[in-house]
Amino acid sequence: MECFDLESFSATARDHAVRPRHHGPLEVFDGHARVTGPCGDTMEFWLLARNGQVEKVSFITDGCGPSLACGSMAACLVEGKRVEDAAGLRQQDILEALGGLPRESEHCALLAANALKAACQDHLNHRRESQGKPSGEKRTCDTCKETDCSASQRKKEESEEEFEDRRKLQSRLCRIKRKIVVLSGKGGVGKSTVAANLAAALMLSGKRVGLLDVDIHGPSIPTMLGLERERIQGSEDGLLPIDIGGLKVMSLGFLLQNQDDAVIWRGPMKMGVIKQFLKDVVWGDLDDLIIDSPPGTGDEPLSVCQLIGQLDGAVIVTTPQKVAAVDVRKSITFCRRLGVPVLGVVENMSGFVCPKCGEVTQILPSGGGPRIAKDMNVPFLGSIPMDPKIAEAGDSGRAMFGQDSDSPMARAMDEIITQIAGPGTAETPPGEGSEGE
Ligand code: ADP
Repeated sequence: MECFDLESFSATARDHAVRPRHHGPLEVFDGHARVTGPCGDTMEFWLLARNGQVEKVSFITDGCGPSLACGSMAACLVEGKRVEDAAGLRQQDILEALGGLPRESEHCALLAANALKAACQDHLNHRRESQGKPSGEKRTCDTCKETDCSASQRKKEESEEEFEDRRKLQSRLCRIKRKIVVLSGKGGVGKSTVAANLAAALMLSGKRVGLLDVDIHGPSIPTMLGLERERIQGSEDGLLPIDIGGLKVMSLGFLLQNQDDAVIWRGPMKMGVIKQFLKDVVWGDLDDLIIDSPPGTGDEPLSVCQLIGQLDGAVIVTTPQKVAAVDVRKSITFCRRLGVPVLGVVENMSGFVCPKCGEVTQILPSGGGPRIAKDMNVPFLGSIPMDPKIAEAGDSGRAMFGQDSDSPMARAMDEIITQIAGPGTAETPPGEGSEGE
């Protein structure tokens, strides 16, 4: 993290840069915001207030020393203060408390002040709402007329344009009964395979289903479903998903001229594209939307989940090895932080299906998935063995389990959709989990 010269820092700033206080997310909070500054650095604040005063506050940032110093100092300055006063913390206050920063790093103090302010506003909005006082003007999205529609009010930190974008997105999402995100702690564990098969299984069970692929690292759904040559068609109302046998599919891959395009998009640009994409897709009325998210628990899946908002559940895909346990834990913590109920864990590549006799052999230590699910108090949804037919089907554009209804994949999907269909299968509401990362 040596993108700054510690020698040019005051002793206080150096201390906060090297040993940031209040660093890391809060498990339980009632105010939260994430802000990206013009320099591209992002800062995120959480706070928990009691009797109107900041009882706990914490932050994270992807910026280096100066950002850490500013976030840390901002958090220290507002602890114990009234939330209204904390919201008023200025860039200058942070710089003064740090004993100054080199000029080229002063913007980090502005980012910290803005992110903290947004978190305080978030808390104040919640408070007003719970007291029945609207925080802004009343306007529902175009679909519903519900006064509790999340697009009924402009958030304090939102510009009119951002509010309109959100309303537009909400108008689309209001017509979708359930939005389920498929997550994995890392790439290559079969997240997209599970997402595609889950969507297909739900569709075959008679539901109206959409499959949205926003895995910017390598949108693989078009390849898996044999849709590589498809290009998005527009209509007056927006972008039309590709309809394959009743399953509506939309992928970032349809926007790319070639697979390498994804890697050249930089952070803010990626999110701009995804945001645009989300609000413009004409899904119509759906029972379920399955979202194939970017892998990991970092900025990209976070932004995707935040942009979509109001997710109804997450399915976490893992592999059986012990080392995968850490990733699953992170994914569960990630969901709890975002308030997304964990529908359960799927263990993929669990055992090997012999292509000759069809018998399943455990070639890697197995049982990791059920064990972690139990430890973390979330449902275990099922295991999918490693099957050469699955890889082959994925490569040749036939990754729909319906091709072979008696395959291990088909049986696993059957089990999974039965479990996630029933009421009360999701874990207890977010914020109530208490384990750390
Ligand atoms: P991710 O989305 O996590 O990066 P993918 O779903 O793209 O992973 O899967 C990675 C590769 O592994 C693909 O080639 C896919 O066909 C293959 N694969 C996934 N699950 C299985 C399985 N159970 N058996 C055999 N191959 C699999």
